[in-house]
This record gives sequence, C-alpha cells and structure tokens, in this order.
Amino acid sequence: MAHDSSSLIAIIVIGLVLAFVLGAIAHRLKISPLVGYLLAGVVVGPFTPGFVANQELAAQLAEIGVILLMFGVGLHFSLADILSVRRIVFPGATVQIVVSTLLGTIVARLMGWSWGVDVVFGLCFSVASTVVVMRTMQERRLIDSERGRIAIGWLVFQDLLTVIVLVLLPPLSGLLKGEAGAVDLGALALALGLTLAKVVGFIAVMLVIGRRVIPAILHYIVHTGSRELFRLAVLSVALGVAFLAAELFGVSFALGAFFAGMVLSESQLSQQAAEESLPLRDAFAVLFFVSVGMLFDPAVLVREPLSLIGMLLVVMVGGAGTAVLMIRAFGSPLGTALLVGAGLAQIGEFSFILADLGIGLGLLPPSGRDLVLATSILSILANPILLAAIDRLRPWIDRRDGKLAPPDADIEAMREELRMTGLQGHAVLVGFGRVGSLVGDALRQRGWPLLVIEDSVETVKRVRAAGTETIFGNAAEDRVLAAANLAAARILLVAIPNGFEACEIVKHARALNPGLEIVARAHFDAEVDQLVQFGADIVIMGEREIARTMIEYVRDLSVDGAPREAQRAGVPPQP
Ligand code: AMP
Repeated sequence: MAHDSSSLIAIIVIGLVLAFVLGAIAHRLKISPLVGYLLAGVVVGPFTPGFVANQELAAQLAEIGVILLMFGVGLHFSLADILSVRRIVFPGATVQIVVSTLLGTIVARLMGWSWGVDVVFGLCFSVASTVVVMRTMQERRLIDSERGRIAIGWLVFQDLLTVIVLVLLPPLSGLLKGEAGAVDLGALALALGLTLAKVVGFIAVMLVIGRRVIPAILHYIVHTGSRELFRLAVLSVALGVAFLAAELFGVSFALGAFFAGMVLSESQLSQQAAEESLPLRDAFAVLFFVSVGMLFDPAVLVREPLSLIGMLLVVMVGGAGTAVLMIRAFGSPLGTALLVGAGLAQIGEFSFILADLGIGLGLLPPSGRDLVLATSILSILANPILLAAIDRLRPWIDRRDGKLAPPDADIEAMREELRMTGLQGHAVLVGFGRVGSLVGDALRQRGWPLLVIEDSVETVKRVRAAGTETIFGNAAEDRVLAAANLAAARILLVAIPNGFEACEIVKHARALNPGLEIVARAHFDAEVDQLVQFGADIVIMGEREIARTMIEYVRDLSVDGAPREAQRAGVPPQP
C-alpha cells in the first residue's frame, strides 16, 4: 500500500524520524533540539520541494502534544500555586498583553491596513506559546520554583484572556472593520457573559466534581494492578477532559488539560500519572514543533523583511521587555524577571488561532498569517539563544540580585556550592522528611557519621543548623550523588516517596559502589521489585510496615478490653 502525503502514518513516521535526525544533529552542534524539530517541519512543509505532509493532520497531532504537556504541568500545580503568584501575574500579564498589542498595532499601522485590522494583528503578537515555555521550564527543572510558577501563571492568564478575545472578536468584527454602528452592544454583552459563565462553569465543575471523581477513578484502577489500564486511564482523563472542555465549555484544549492535571495534583497518584503520560507527551510535543515548522514559508523573509523585523522586535523586545519590567516592579529578582521574560519572548499556537479567526472574519488579509507564522518560527528559533545569553550573564545577574538577597538567588547559590564530602565510612541519607528525619535522628544518636541529601531549601537550612552535613540538590542527579562520596560510604538510605527517582538513585549508587549496602523506601509492590532489580539490598514498603504495626497492635488486644497503656506507649513517636 502506498502512503501519500495525506496519510496519518506518513506524517507520524516521517515527522518523527526527521525530527529525530535533525534534533540529534542540532544536539551534536550544541544547539537546542527544538531547532531541529522546527527544521524537520520546514522540510516536510508545503514550501520546500519533496514530500509534503498534510497540514491539517499535523496540526491535530500537535494539539495532542499541547494537551499532554499542559496536563503534565497541571499535575505539578495546585490552585494555591497559581494564587500564590496572582499579585505579579494578573496585573503583569494584563499590562504586557496591552503593551504588546499596542506595539503590534503601531507596526501594522505602518503597513497601511485599517485600524481595526491592526488591532487584531497586534493581538496575535501578545501571547506566548505554552509549549515552548513549558519545555524550557521542564528542561531546567524550574516548574516547582518561583520562576516556574510565575511563568505558568502568566501563561494560564494569557490563555484565559485569549479565550475571551476569541469569543469577543466575532461580535466586534463589524466595528473593527470600521462599519459605523455595526456593533450590537447586546450581542457583545451576551457573548462576553456567556463565555465568562462557561469558563467559570468549567472551573467549578472541575473543582467540585472532577476533583472527587477523577482521583477516585484512578485509585480504583491502580488497585486492579494493571499498568496498562492505569496508563489508559491517565490518557483518558487528560484527553477526555480537554475535549469536553473544548466541546461543552468552549475553553481551550490546553486550559482543559491543565485543569485535569491540577485536580489530580493533590492525589498521591499524580506522580505515577505524570510518569505514565511522559513518553507520549514527549513524542507529541515534538510533532507540535514539526507542525509549526511546516507553516513556515521562507519566501516571506524576502517579501516583507521590514515588517518581519518590526514584529520580531514587538515580540522579543516589546512584549518580553514589558514582562521583565512588570515582574521586576513587583519585587522579584532580576534573574527571575529575565528568565521568565526570555521564556515569553516568542509567539506560537494561540497566535495562529487568533490569526485564523481574524482571516475567517475578514479582518485580516491572508498575508497577515504569513507574517504571524514567520515571526513565530523565528522567535521560537531565537528562544534558546536568548536563554543561553541570559545564562552567560548569570554571574552579573547574581551579583546584582545578591544585594537584594532574593529567595531564588539563594537557591542558585546553594546549588553552585556543591562540594565533595570529606566523610568516610559514613551513612548517606536521601530525603529528610517524615521518614528521613526519624532515621537521621536515630543514626545521629548512635554516633554515625551522617550525610544528608535534600532538595528542599528549608529542610537543608534546618538540618545544617542542627550541625549535620547536608548536600542540597536532587539525589537523582549524577553530580549530586557524586558529591556524596559513595565509594567510601558504608550505607545508603533512600528515604524519598517517589519510586521513579528512588530507582534512578539506587541505579547510580550501585554503579558507583558495587559493595555498598542500599536500603530504600517504597509504596507499591511493583516499586519493591524494581528497586531490588536496580540493586537495593533491602526495600521497606511503607504500607506493609504500617499494616504490620497495626496487626501487632490488635494481636495483643483482648477482644473486649480497652487498649492498655503499655501499648499506647508503643506507638512510634510522631516527627
Ligand atoms: P517525606 O515523604 O515526608 O519523607 O519527605 C521526603 C523528603 O525527601 C522531602 O523533604 C523532600 O524534599 C526530599 N526529597 C524528595 N525527593 C528527593 C530527591 N530526589 N533528592 C533529595 N531529596 C529529595
């Protein structure tokens, strides 16, 4: 059977393979693989000779990538996280969108369209691509940091505003086209009210019903013990909620998926859910970049170079600069402001959607779309370069931030100072939370030379204040584990709840010291097996130990009697 360009399989196979090859080459040349993925798109796109993939299908595949990505982000996020940055994000993003739109309008003005057209065009340059920012934050493990929260909050806010703009454009199109009296205020108010009601309705449904039902379904499935079913359940939740959000509530796929993840984030299954959706997410995110690349018509570089430069300046200097200033104005350190600003210095999927709608309504000439696409691809291409430039400036930024003693610079400084321990014959304890702190105290009392590895700043400060040597960082990172001098250690105790990371740590540790005694913590039978496979000598499963203590307690209890004081005293101390 021959596969023509319109077949789904041709796109997936050729898209992924080309992205892989060009991504690997980009990596080899020490540039971001993103560039490779985008170029793969240009190669299979309609503007270059040879194979031409079906754009419609590519865009839909990309959408799945967006959904899984936002779902994954939601899994790391709680409502409290978003609200914690609202003071910066709400006013900041509003001002940034207004400024970007204004600047975009001014540049469009120079091209001599009507002012209504200019505004719609300007709007296309005010919202960043979620996928690009998320990739940056994930690559740098910043999702859980202050910077990550500001960037994600900013995107969620932009996303919400875009949804509103998308709904308001059709009733406003008459006015924007300059047809006097064409605007129907009633219709406008109705459209706005309806949209807001739908968005609020969707959020309410997710928080009230979704929050209970979704974790309950996953808990039920996890007890069937079938990994396959669990994976399927996770995908069903992510894709299903996103689809419903779009179909029933008119909310974007991205926002729907984000909320699906967020209602799961409080459940203890969130970590597992994230792991299960990871491989698919990465594959589809790559297809997103391929599909963006496909839209690029290199001819626009020659046709309209000046407009293009103007729009690039709007996005990369105007919009991003406003974001930096706003974040600074609200008291965040320069490092945070620059990083978030650089992340936002590009446009993507929302701009395409806005441009398409504008063209559909007759507000934008089709040539406007080419400019939006070209600006998008060039700004996405420039993004890794911008971030690398900021990394170069880091010593200078840190020095400036150092004077202000910002919270994030503190963390960076602690990360930097990673030094090889001088301990020998020591116990290495990973994690100093509910489990680790008890273990650590016991080890200290028995006079063990103890080294703690922790990735929570507060905990590190506390443990250090108590006089115990502590390495700050994620023990799953090679360089962190290397600083613990495992080759000379007696025993490694992995006391963290995340089985996936625990496996990584055990695997590395075993490679570093084949004779080391390794004790690990687990919560599921499957984790126990895996940890043993990776080289743990003893794996203690929390749930089994809890059960054992409970059984012990009831065993000594007479059926009709009250608990005896002696047994009460046997309850392990609470940390
Ligand atoms: P708990 O579940 O209360 O015992 O807490 C686990 C502790 O381990 C927390 O203090 C975390 O900050 C810490 N932790 C979790 N993962 C890691 C890791 N990969 N490396 C270092 N510390 C970790």
